[in-house]
Amino acid sequence: MQRLLHFFLLCLLFGTCSSDLLAQDLDLRGTISHQQTDSYVTVPFEVPPGIQRLDVSFTYTGREDHTTLDLGLLDPQRFRGWSGGNKHAFSVGIADATPSYLPGPLPPGTWKLLIGVAFLGEGHTSNYQAYIHFVRANEADTTGFTSAPIATGERWYRGDLHMHTAHSDGSCTSQSGKMVPCPLFVTVEDAVKQKLDFIAITDHNTISHYDAERELQPYFDQILLIPGREITTYSGHANIFGSTSFIDFRAEAKGAPSINNVFRAAHAAGAIVSINHPGDPTGASCIGCGWSVTDTDWSLVDGVEAINGNDPAHYDSDIRFWDQQLAKGYRLVAIGGSDTHRPERVTIGHPTTVVHAQELSVHGILDAIRKGHVCIDLTASHDKVIDIEASDGVSHAAMEDTLTAAGNDHVFWTAHITGAAGSTLHWVVDGKESSALPPQPVGDAEDKVTWTSDGQRHWIRAEIRTADGTLQLLSNPIFVNWPTKP
Ligand SMILES: [Zn+2]
Ligand SMILES: [Zn+2]
Repeated sequence: MQRLLHFFLLCLLFGTCSSDLLAQDLDLRGTISHQQTDSYVTVPFEVPPGIQRLDVSFTYTGREDHTTLDLGLLDPQRFRGWSGGNKHAFSVGIADATPSYLPGPLPPGTWKLLIGVAFLGEGHTSNYQAYIHFVRANEADTTGFTSAPIATGERWYRGDLHMHTAHSDGSCTSQSGKMVPCPLFVTVEDAVKQKLDFIAITDHNTISHYDAERELQPYFDQILLIPGREITTYSGHANIFGSTSFIDFRAEAKGAPSINNVFRAAHAAGAIVSINHPGDPTGASCIGCGWSVTDTDWSLVDGVEAINGNDPAHYDSDIRFWDQQLAKGYRLVAIGGSDTHRPERVTIGHPTTVVHAQELSVHGILDAIRKGHVCIDLTASHDKVIDIEASDGVSHAAMEDTLTAAGNDHVFWTAHITGAAGSTLHWVVDGKESSALPPQPVGDAEDKVTWTSDGQRHWIRAEIRTADGTLQLLSNPIFVNWPTKP
């Protein structure tokens, strides 16, 4: 009654009379008796409109007496799956479902849990409880394919945020040597061989790969599968990480809305947005590859793919694009992605995005990317890291943080570098090398240097290069005298 009162109050005040306001989780309980053995019991429940996923957990008493209740699901029109006695919890969404269950639209109306009473001893009863959680269409759906972290503990986690499979234009070699659409599990196996902690499979525009990922994640329980997709328009490509909801990609086409609408939808779904290979040329050979959207709302963009693939010829233009956005005041986090379409040609993890996160979960990795605690390893090593910090003796700033330094203040810059002894550390001030922060050989210890502030706004990042100038590691910047990131 109280809920109804709240509902009508909201309806009167805000005009929000949508029936999904009444969509709340269900706690279904009942008792099965011995007489119902060898029968199917249906438990009806109402699914309101506007639901994009339902998560069911099911328990019952009497297991110690060999009571066995099987489980299945029917929607108002069709059979939605049967897990028998093999699962106590399952999830059914629009694009993906726990194996045994069928993904697809979740029509409103009367659904039924199907309980198969396989065994219940004479004179016994069993109390069951089914808890049903609804995820609404306007809610973030960013739990990914596992609700628990893959690993806990604050450290650097290594991953690849851009790749393609059979669900778009990814291919690999078949048993008999033909090029065939590459099954998603081959891609995950390749990522495991590269010893990566996480990957995002980013097939073009579609969400069909999520069902395979939900099946594979329990098996690949040491590599996190982050929901991803590459929004691919005629004016540019952008990756969306974290959400499994469908987001309409038909932007920047004739009569279509602005890409900013796509970005808003992604953020509303709890996802983050990164512009891909922005400095690439665009034309017949690669349609919409460079970023040519003229009215981009950069406040809706979280990151930029500063390093795409393993071809050094592409690196300068993408890094320059990133620097140009920073110069305009847009604090985009640099990430990397192999963009592999054929793992034999471009190794997964080349480049590797290295993220300092609290835990290996979708939330943990995306949160660290939002904060900019990220560097890029262009060598596909298993250990290279660069981290920088700045201090004026009182305040300390990490990558993507802001430090305030008045004119003539001394700022101490430190680079923590792993796995690159013998290379050279280059400090990059406002996108250029500066005599105020000269290059230093990478030693075994931390590399420190003092810089005198002029009180102006700067961003300072670091690169590690070999003697012949090959870029190995790229840090994100520390911002001096900038407004704090909102
Ligand atoms: Zn692309
Ligand atoms: Zn791509």
